[in-house]
Amino acid sequence: MNLTFLGTGPSTGIPKKECRDLTCQEARKKNSKSKRTRSSALLKANNFNLLIDCSPDFLQQVKQERIKKINYVIITHAHRDASGGIKKLNLWTKNKIIVCCQKQTIKKITSRYGGLNKLEFRAIKPYQKFKIKNMAITALPVKHYVLDEKNFPTLAYKFKNLIYCSDVIKIPAKSLKHFKNYPYLILDAAMYFNRQFISHLNTRQAIELAEKQKVKNLYLTQIGHSYPPYKIARKEIAKFVKAHKIKTKVFLAYDGLKIKL
Ligand SMILES: [Zn+2]
Ligand SMILES: [Zn+2]
Repeated sequence: MNLTFLGTGPSTGIPKKECRDLTCQEARKKNSKSKRTRSSALLKANNFNLLIDCSPDFLQQVKQERIKKINYVIITHAHRDASGGIKKLNLWTKNKIIVCCQKQTIKKITSRYGGLNKLEFRAIKPYQKFKIKNMAITALPVKHYVLDEKNFPTLAYKFKNLIYCSDVIKIPAKSLKHFKNYPYLILDAAMYFNRQFISHLNTRQAIELAEKQKVKNLYLTQIGHSYPPYKIARKEIAKFVKAHKIKTKVFLAYDGLKIKL
């Protein structure tokens, strides 16, 4: 099994329209790792492709990675950067697709977009273990959009050796237990180092969380506009890891990065 980061950016993507700061200028260069489409990933198993979140950049992402078929989709929450490509997916796919997410998320998505005739939604509950083919997945509720949790409940997804947690400000203890000693964690680090935001973690919080849980490999995603260009951010992160004697291996994800699981 392997995972490809299709997008690793914030809700606006990077570069931002008409922004001329260093990060956005860098992001406009060819093959730049500072360029980030909105966060999403593809899990490739032996006999199926599973999409994690369906971003508004979906068509660009499948083209970039030459993806021909999606069999399943799981969605973390109903914000547009995580689910806004669902209509494009419905038009693009030739086969039926099963889409798993919470019932409030289904409600939000289907009220926003009509005519999703190729998608079959399946409601999953917090802490539910479910199966896609023979792959076991556990849905772990996390705090993200605390201003309206009723309409935007958010999940992390736990696979055999990987947890995908792209949108989070706080992890309830019952969910956090699952993170202990995990081999791979993909985690929200939207804000650069010490910058605070109401619905996302920053670099420092993400690294400290992973270190505390003794996660083996941490991949930072949902990388926001407050980050400097990729190379500078990567250096600063390496410096921080060294200075704080962090044992977790920390990687700054970028669009197109692949992990073998
Ligand atoms: Zn910018
Ligand atoms: Zn969100």
